[in-house]
Amino acid sequence: MPTVSDTLGRPLRDLRISVTDRCNFRCTYCMPKEVFGRDFHFLPARDLLSFEEIIRLARLFITLGVEKIRITGGEPLVRRDVETLVAMIATLPGLHDLTLTTNGSLLWRKAQALRAAGLQRISVSLDSLDDAVFKAMNDVDFPVALVLDGIEQARAAGLHPIKINVVVKRGMNEHTLVDMARHFRGTGHILRFIEYMDVGTTNGWRLADVVPAAEIIATINAAFALEPLEPNYPGEVARRYRYADGAGEIGVIASVTQPFCGDCTRARLSSDGQLYTCLFATAGHDLRALVRSTAADDDILEGLERIWRRREDRYSQLRTALTPDLSKVEMSRIGG
Ligand code: SAM
Ligand code: SF4
Ligand code: SF4
Repeated sequence: MPTVSDTLGRPLRDLRISVTDRCNFRCTYCMPKEVFGRDFHFLPARDLLSFEEIIRLARLFITLGVEKIRITGGEPLVRRDVETLVAMIATLPGLHDLTLTTNGSLLWRKAQALRAAGLQRISVSLDSLDDAVFKAMNDVDFPVALVLDGIEQARAAGLHPIKINVVVKRGMNEHTLVDMARHFRGTGHILRFIEYMDVGTTNGWRLADVVPAAEIIATINAAFALEPLEPNYPGEVARRYRYADGAGEIGVIASVTQPFCGDCTRARLSSDGQLYTCLFATAGHDLRALVRSTAADDDILEGLERIWRRREDRYSQLRTALTPDLSKVEMSRIGG
């Protein structure tokens, strides 16, 4: 399999495909209501890549070395017939891993269909088990119980291990982390605590709102003793720990306090076909124009290769030196 490496020697291994910029939540750290309100202009359907266009690009990315695809959004389960896309991706030769990140709100009725379509694993975002805290974070009054129901349906459908993503924001949910650990210990599901990041420009991010991963681990460790684990593979973004009593594992994603740009092998495709080579990029590369032109696969492949070879992104490592008001792409466009 030919591979392509960027200016820092990082190969292209993972592709995150955002299938919609819409979401039924308004998480304050991602799509604050004040910005993503009634008047917000989401992409019209004609601007979204079709499933066929996504598959054509995915196939080309796999040719360049991509082994893992994650479907994301916005909220991927609000894209009509997303399970059809899952089924199309699942059959692509050369792909070793296919997963999807969701807020879990529609999982109770989609889990079976996603599994049947060939989805192997799933990540579900859930920031707290405390209804008041969770509702304050999703900002649409969505209850915890329905997400837990979705997680249970996913388990019953055979999607495992299930990763549960918890964004930790100072003053919002840090006091409920031990409850999360208690609830999910021994279930086989893997909690992943994520440092609140300065993605986009609309969430009013402040360094003071970040709870460092070291503090998160110390908090959990004080309740349930933890031991560090080796990464599953080079470049794994989560730092892993296991409960000393054998009740499973957790992870932390410390993109602010312990950046992992040196191992970053991820490309991101927005729902309107822009390729971003970093979560904090200020501009994308227009692949939609390419797939809707007369360009042959070889031409597109050459273009992708050129983009990756020139890549020099390492935003998180440079964060302190950068101005906070760069016009970075929103998380809801490229999906984390
Ligand atoms: N809507 C889906 C969901 O919430 O899982 C998929 C898209 S969402 C943008 C992907 C992940 O990014 C979620 O786990 C979410 O919690 C996380 N996320 C969003 N904004 C973030 C931020 N400012 N800092 C850290 N993680 C964030
Ligand atoms: Fe929607 Fe996910 Fe962003 Fe929350 S984090 S607003 S669920 S896209
Ligand atoms: Fe990768 Fe950019 Fe995040 Fe660094 S800041 S790990 S280059 S996405």
